[in-house]
Amino acid sequence: MKDSANEALWERAKSVMPGGVNSPVRAFGGINRHLEDAGKAIWPLNIVSGNGSRITDADGNTYIDYSCGFGPMILGHSHPKVVAAITQAAAGGLCFGTNTPGEVELAELVTSAYPSVEKMRLVSSGTEAAMSTIRLARAFTGRMEIVKFAGCYHGHANELLAAGGAGFLTSGIPDSAGVLTQAVAHTHVLQYNNIEAIHYLFSHIGAKIACVIVEPIATNMGLVIPVDGFLQQLSSVTEKYGALLIYDEGTTGFRHSFGGVQVKTKMKPDLTILGRIIGGGLSMAAFGGRADIMDLLAPDGPVFQAGNYAGDPVAVAAGLTTLKILQQSPEIYTHIFSQAISLQAALISAAQKKGIPIQVPLSGSLMSFFFTNNPVKNEIDAQHADQKLFAGFYAQLLKRGIYLSPSPLGVMYISSSLTSDDVGKTYDAVSAAFSSL
Ligand code: PLP
Repeated sequence: MKDSANEALWERAKSVMPGGVNSPVRAFGGINRHLEDAGKAIWPLNIVSGNGSRITDADGNTYIDYSCGFGPMILGHSHPKVVAAITQAAAGGLCFGTNTPGEVELAELVTSAYPSVEKMRLVSSGTEAAMSTIRLARAFTGRMEIVKFAGCYHGHANELLAAGGAGFLTSGIPDSAGVLTQAVAHTHVLQYNNIEAIHYLFSHIGAKIACVIVEPIATNMGLVIPVDGFLQQLSSVTEKYGALLIYDEGTTGFRHSFGGVQVKTKMKPDLTILGRIIGGGLSMAAFGGRADIMDLLAPDGPVFQAGNYAGDPVAVAAGLTTLKILQQSPEIYTHIFSQAISLQAALISAAQKKGIPIQVPLSGSLMSFFFTNNPVKNEIDAQHADQKLFAGFYAQLLKRGIYLSPSPLGVMYISSSLTSDDVGKTYDAVSAAFSSL
């Protein structure tokens, strides 16, 4: 595998960009990239183009892409209709600082797909969306305490960069330098899927809790699927105590159905965060929910929230086109889900043949794998999987033209452009990779 152009670009990048990347998840820190020389520096790929299920790096290596931009590229790269919509929108002007028809149409489409979302706002990132829902929840309830789950990521607003404290009732501790202890003093961090902990916390401080924020299928500690009753208990306990329930469907939105996890599971959170697919690959996210809560936003209400690029016409064109394709062609979901099932079977069978313990959780078009014998239900389980094995396996796959999100806690995103031939090639690569470990 040629790698000299990737290396040269990384040399330049690291002298002008912290860590050589614009977002830490892009660094290859957890990957044993140079199998033959563990001491050698590790650099990420520089991707120069993408088409359908494939991406090509600066050295001309081509990979089957299972990262899909961490999710948005559900239709694969450079979908002709999405590219045409973006081109047309850009030719018509980039930024007007006022409403455009497309954003109204997009909001109508999303609110019709998500019964729980009566009103919504577009923003430029998931971080902004999550931060705004917390502010709204506090304003609506007049309460301060918030609850999140370890391993769920909701962007990097200060109050959400919290790690678990010493006990269920203690507040979080900063999960990043530069975050004030005070900023997370009202953030309680529980383990995902721990229903008893939720009841315990609410039975002690339920009247003070403004909201619970959760990924209804967790995608930031690998893929972790809620156990039976977890989401139902979150709904009932929040309702009982008058707290709001926020679903962060930043990665799951429009991935499980035209309407996300909540539509598939018939759950109705108070507020919802959307990202990735809603922007069709450009920088856009949204938050929305009950009208009586959303109406607290300025200019109608007292909760300030704003964004110069909110509703960017080019991103709206990309998102709207992507969503319309998904809405008009439900067979896309059927195709993706069946490819995902084939992939899951391929991974399990290849690992079993080599006697390698593996868990391959799958949900719709999202999949991940953990090298462990035990089912993964929370962040502690995820961290206990064999990450060293993952690092070597990843490198073996890369060498064979398979690109995954570069982290043992990453998720595989499957796109509609993935062909049966791609799945077959992946199976061959996976089998060969296991044999080389
Ligand atoms: N919510 C979820 C579930 C995410 O996975 C992420 C990012 O990975 C975010 C929110 C933050 O989104 P952004 O990176 O656009 O700020």
